[in-house]
Amino acid sequence: MDFASSDLIIVGSGFFGATIADRAAREMGLRVCVLDRRDHIGGNAWSHIDPATGIEVHTYGSHLFHTSSKDVWDYVNRFSGFSTYRHRVIVRHKDRFFTMPMNLGTLSSLFGRFLSPSDAKALIAAEVAAAGIVNPTNFEEKAISLAGRTMYDAFIKGYTAKQWQTDPRQLPAEIITRLPMRLTFDDFYFNDTYEGLPLDGYAAIFERMLTHPNIRIATGVDYFDVRASIPPSAPIVYTGPIDRYFDYRAGVLGWRTIDFESEVVPVGDYQGASVVNYPDMDVPFTRIHEFRHLHPERSYQAERSIIFREYSRFAERADEPYYPINATADKAGYDSYRAMADAEPGVIFGGRLGTYRYLDMHQAIGAAMKVFENQIRPHFAEGRGLKG
Ligand code: FAD
Ligand code: UDP
Repeated sequence: MDFASSDLIIVGSGFFGATIADRAAREMGLRVCVLDRRDHIGGNAWSHIDPATGIEVHTYGSHLFHTSSKDVWDYVNRFSGFSTYRHRVIVRHKDRFFTMPMNLGTLSSLFGRFLSPSDAKALIAAEVAAAGIVNPTNFEEKAISLAGRTMYDAFIKGYTAKQWQTDPRQLPAEIITRLPMRLTFDDFYFNDTYEGLPLDGYAAIFERMLTHPNIRIATGVDYFDVRASIPPSAPIVYTGPIDRYFDYRAGVLGWRTIDFESEVVPVGDYQGASVVNYPDMDVPFTRIHEFRHLHPERSYQAERSIIFREYSRFAERADEPYYPINATADKAGYDSYRAMADAEPGVIFGGRLGTYRYLDMHQAIGAAMKVFENQIRPHFAEGRGLKG
């Protein structure tokens, strides 16, 4: 592969890499080469059409697009129209039905009586006081302080044990604050201003972002296999795992991977919802995705449906890393890698894997837009150095 004819090499074609590639080629006319070790573009947000059912499947689990940034929303809408889909999640606990995120409906169902906002507030405050939590610092304390002990035990403890396989007192509190806790009956999953799903699917978005005469794409190519043939002066945007880039010199960071068990079921509707969560420990998976429900506006066949059961486990080196665990023990390791990244000339580390951060799609896009404006543009327009 001739890398000398590229102005910029981008490792990874997920939302971070694709946004940089689009901006660099369309805004500045740069010649960009995008590498991805997978056999497709789009990273974890990729989707494909299941051949047996014709249903669009999110290859790496349901991806719900939501943001409160008008800039990000306007940006993705350049590449596709979006539906008005709003996500809700159902929880099956002890064979009973609840709604997630936790709200007055969840609480009232769990306690078997109607709870008003002030009843709920008093109940949770009493449970938090009984647990002796004053200044929550870790995941468990934060979750109990938001939802009370009874809800924590029913909906969070088991689900989190299955999902993270890490003592919840070692997990960062931010993981649980991703979920709203509401003292209303609002059961939409997200609080953001904008929400929807790409009308033509995620694959079409990435194809549109990356189809440009100045963008060359090489899928099925691992950066580390071709690194030696890239000129040392070539600017690089790296969105792979940061510990891998530095050959694990400061140790292996904790990552979680996911296994999906796919099944085509002989019914038009398997569970009546896009996602059903299973917090109980006697069920080995965390949730079931049924993709047809993501697009009620489409006329999918009525005879069959496709579901994914999601299982979570620690990632070994050969596994695809999905979620940074960021447990207490990982923090020092990441700080060392961050310092190495800052000292690495000509390479920008970005995205979920490159910055070891639990980024949603809109955050990956927003971060890439900033990196383009603050680093890439000044580098090529004014000759400023690229850093970290
Ligand atoms: P990625 O999409 O991970 O892309 C990185 C790319 O780099 C990959 O394609 C990888 O193959 C490639 N790569 C890595 N190493 C190399 C190498 N050495 N050589 C070449 N290529 C390499 N976000 C939401 O907003 N809503 C959701 O509902 C949502 N659900 C999610 C569910 C799951 C199960 C997961 C895992 C994530 C979810 N996300 C969701 C997060 C979303 O996937 C990320 O925000 C987004 O993918 C981040 O984009 P990225 O470009 O940083 O990384
Ligand atoms: N969570 C939980 N029970 C649920 C849903 C979520 O305990 O039914 C916790 C879990 O620890 C999870 C976190 O809340 O990691 C954030 O949930 P989210 O749905 O944002 O996780 P993701 O979709 O990123 O896997």
